[in-house]
Amino acid sequence: MALIRIEGAVKRYGAAVALDGVSLSVAPGDCLGLVGESGSGKTTLLRAINRLTDLDAGRVLVRGDPVESLDPVRLRRSIGYVQQDGGLIPHWTCLANASLVPGLLGREEAREHGRRALDAAGLDPDTFADRYPRELSGGQRQRVAIARAIAAGPDILLMDEPFGALDAITRREAQKTFIQLRRAGGVTAVFVTHDLAEAMLVATDVAVMRAGRVAFQAPAEELAGSATGYAAELLEKAGVAV
Ligand code: ADP
Ligand code: MG
Repeated sequence: MALIRIEGAVKRYGAAVALDGVSLSVAPGDCLGLVGESGSGKTTLLRAINRLTDLDAGRVLVRGDPVESLDPVRLRRSIGYVQQDGGLIPHWTCLANASLVPGLLGREEAREHGRRALDAAGLDPDTFADRYPRELSGGQRQRVAIARAIAAGPDILLMDEPFGALDAITRREAQKTFIQLRRAGGVTAVFVTHDLAEAMLVATDVAVMRAGRVAFQAPAEELAGSATGYAAELLEKAGVAV
């Protein structure tokens, strides 16, 4: 059974069509890399999964349930989400940010969950717990955002261009951390990126979006050999041999 299933998703903003009939599914333990140029509908699709956006047509099922049948707040707290800009609360410390969801869930050990999540995201809690986001580098801030997303131990993780603003070396390190987190098990992810090479590195399956539609989809390991049309163009731009 798919943990996330999207069936014929349509979303319009006035005359603009953000999603134009998208169907995708993600099996437990997989990571779907969602690739596409700016404006292709990636963020809209991600936000339809945790009901930050409601669709005009089609539906999304999470863990087998149509999301419109679920309480949106509970749904969101059960899904780790790294927003495109990180979305940290600036006047909260790293530990307060990382402990947010376990705290909202009323867990007694919220701060302990937060500390463990910082550690898993590659930040030593003894060094970083009491710092504020403004006292961190871009890469460290994104690690706090990841810590916040995983602190409550969600089985689903949605990542929206989490490493898009990082320099190449920092980005490579962050990608490695994400791959380790996934290997540690138990999490199913949708990882949005505009970089096809990044998707092929971190994801098990890759879907390329264009103008609100899925232009191409393939297992990551087969992609380089099988890409045609728009995906091949993107691969070429990404410097990946086809
Ligand atoms: P991506 O994440 O791939 O860059 P988005 O999902 O953010 O793309 O946007 C897809 C399209 O929907 C774009 O044309 C964008 O301008 C439009 N759009 C997204 N959100 C809104 C909104 N809240 N209001 C109006 N238009 C929007
Ligand atoms: Mg986006």
